[in-house]
Amino acid sequence: MATYTRHSRAPRGRFSDHGRSGRSSFSRQKARSAGRGGHKGQFIHHSKFINKGVDEVVKPYEPTHSFADFAIDHRIKANIAKKGYVKPSAIQDQAIPVVLQGKDVVGIANTGTGKTGAFLIPLLDKVINARHERVLIMVPTRELAQQIEEEYKGFSHGSGFASVSLVGGANINPQIRALRHDPYFVIGTPGRIKDLIQQRALNLSKFHTVVLDEADRMLDMGFVQDMRSIISLMPKKRHTLFFSATLSPEVERLLKEFVADPVRISVKTGDTSKSVDQDIVRIEGREKFGLLQDLLSLPEFEKVLVFGRTKHGVERLAKELTRHGIPSASIHGNKSQKQRERALGEFKQHKVRVLIATDVAARGLDIPNVSHVINYDQPNTYEDYVHRIGRTGRAGKRGIALTFVE
Ligand code: AMP
Repeated sequence: MATYTRHSRAPRGRFSDHGRSGRSSFSRQKARSAGRGGHKGQFIHHSKFINKGVDEVVKPYEPTHSFADFAIDHRIKANIAKKGYVKPSAIQDQAIPVVLQGKDVVGIANTGTGKTGAFLIPLLDKVINARHERVLIMVPTRELAQQIEEEYKGFSHGSGFASVSLVGGANINPQIRALRHDPYFVIGTPGRIKDLIQQRALNLSKFHTVVLDEADRMLDMGFVQDMRSIISLMPKKRHTLFFSATLSPEVERLLKEFVADPVRISVKTGDTSKSVDQDIVRIEGREKFGLLQDLLSLPEFEKVLVFGRTKHGVERLAKELTRHGIPSASIHGNKSQKQRERALGEFKQHKVRVLIATDVAARGLDIPNVSHVINYDQPNTYEDYVHRIGRTGRAGKRGIALTFVE
């Protein structure tokens, strides 16, 4: 990745490869060793962490509908305009008419495609026209639940159709109280939804509509049993929308279990990692923390997401960096929902330029303008790697991903 090492003010030889060959770029250090890097999980050859990004020629999608064309309530249309959406995104353009017809959908789409609007817009219209109807949205993480709820509030503003977010790590009592008001949209993680059903705070008999968002992630995270038992408590005749970023054989099996004859819509915008310059940083016996500090002190590291493997490691790293004059926030499973929200907010609003995260906590997050992803600890699987680096190089921008290797 000659481009930025050349411009860097980093002390020579500190994290580049001069000692051996005088070459200055991380990318030339290609996978000479196949060391395991001392981490648990799948072995990933270093060469898979190296790739030169390309400027994607993003042809803007030309939708076949305008928002005005959709047969949806005028209040929703006004709210869409207020949110500043001009044209439907590809998934919205294709899914909204199908969902409005009451058909099941399998949407292959990742975060950033506008998939949330693709299901919220037609489903909100559905409940406006059928007030007995309730919608359940199952998601893998609290952050995703929160993002969906925020979007929902935008679309439903002024309509009086309440929603609730049922997520772990947050006090359950306010959630129980909110459920007493019989909200129209229930958004939650499978574990907490199940808890609330068991506590008889949530009864699914009125829920004829279910969205499984990021179903592949829920599968990865071991939520399948919970999903099955929750769906078995819904009416047999139901409207099911299934969204997944990937379509592995396991995901195919899962969707066959939940959706009978769906309309399939795929808006894969190609491999997001194509727009990411990927390279390795060799540790070679040097101090990993010092290397990270050096990188973070470079001016081009404007908004950096650093991945660590364990909750404790992530917490420690954020504290250490802050102590060394690089204010950093962290998100991981040991933090309360409030703490995670605060950390994410600080990062999004540029109050800190470094966010340290575990894989699980960072899943599905939509954070604009992340300049760099640093894999301080290697990911356990290549799929995790692709998810991590997909946090940068978005919306037609180039991103940089660096992976520390032994
Ligand atoms: P999502 O993939 O649903 O997480 O959406 C990614 C981001 O795109 C969110 O910040 C949305 O508010 C935004 N967005 C979704 N649909 C549109 C649209 N039609 N026009 C502009 N922005 C949109």
